[in-house]
Amino acid sequence: MSKFLIDKLKSLEAYVPGEQPRDKKYIKLNTNESPYPPSEHTLDSINRAEVENLKLYSDPTCKLLKEKIADKFGVLPENVYIGNGSDECLNFFFMAFCDNNKRVVFPDITYGFYNVFSQLYGISYSEIPLTENFSVDYKDYVNVNANVVIANPNAPTGKTISLDEIEEIVKSNKDYIVVIDEAYVDFGGETAIKLTEKYDNLLVVRTFSKSYSLAGARLGFAIGNKDIISDLEMIKYSTNPYNVNRLTQIAGVSAIESAKYYEDNCKKIIETREYTNNELEALGFEVLDSKANFLFAKHPELDGEYIYKSLKDKGILVRHFTKERIKDFNRITIGSDDEMKEFINIIKVIVKGE
Ligand SMILES: *Cc1c(COP(=O)(O)O)cnc(C)c1O
Repeated sequence: MSKFLIDKLKSLEAYVPGEQPRDKKYIKLNTNESPYPPSEHTLDSINRAEVENLKLYSDPTCKLLKEKIADKFGVLPENVYIGNGSDECLNFFFMAFCDNNKRVVFPDITYGFYNVFSQLYGISYSEIPLTENFSVDYKDYVNVNANVVIANPNAPTGKTISLDEIEEIVKSNKDYIVVIDEAYVDFGGETAIKLTEKYDNLLVVRTFSKSYSLAGARLGFAIGNKDIISDLEMIKYSTNPYNVNRLTQIAGVSAIESAKYYEDNCKKIIETREYTNNELEALGFEVLDSKANFLFAKHPELDGEYIYKSLKDKGILVRHFTKERIKDFNRITIGSDDEMKEFINIIKVIVKGE
């Protein structure tokens, strides 16, 4: 820390992304990326001519991509905000709608960035504990009189809440915004986008990083009432008007046009998830019921950190969190079939102490 840093940032604990090590080749099951490449159509769309066009600024309105997304989800372009990753959509939500008076609540076990944004902006926030079996109990959020952020499916548990439950939360907090972070919805969840037509206080946040194989492109979006969207646009034009670069806008448009390819990938990942889930249970692991592209699992006898380290020694990266409530678990991204077979072979060795 330099001596110049302002006081209010001195105690900020930044978000810690999953490792991206370069020391050797790992099977990477730690940051929920897709094991499959972008579609052929996307690969063709990012061509030499488009790279030459990088001399020009990107379209600050993201017009084409906005229209594609609006069309796909049955909303109007004015209901869509396009962000530099869904992290930026979330960032701008916290910046625009939360402070000391407009509190925010989210689960104690969830995406770590919600807490970081709250600290960054000095927002008053509460973390509501998940139930004993790591579920979100929607009743904890009914009439909380605060902004609400829930990842559905939740991370790192993979567990979902129903649309009826979301509607109860939205209905009962009419003076506040409810954000549903649907980063993993394509792997078996149910989207709340339809509800945004009925409720002006619901914001659904999505990403191209997981199910669309575009983590490195940094692309996300939010769907909600047009007034909320225009507030997000106001923040964008006050910080970074060209927030989504040219190649990423093209990648996003082509990804939407390749819907079938990505749906098939999601189906494969769901099948591989079920295979991995069953194998882990056969080895005695407790595995939470996941509707995401990862599993959250713990062994009754072996320490979570020990499993994480043993896997890393053997060339497999998973995500381990040190937070007390979940330190016995590891979050395992679902890779390709071959990767998960290799993972199971190695975990067998670890469990049997060979
Ligand atoms: C991965 C993830 C994000 C971030 O997505 P980006 O679009 O890559 O910024 C947001 N929310 C949750 C719950 C995630 O797991």
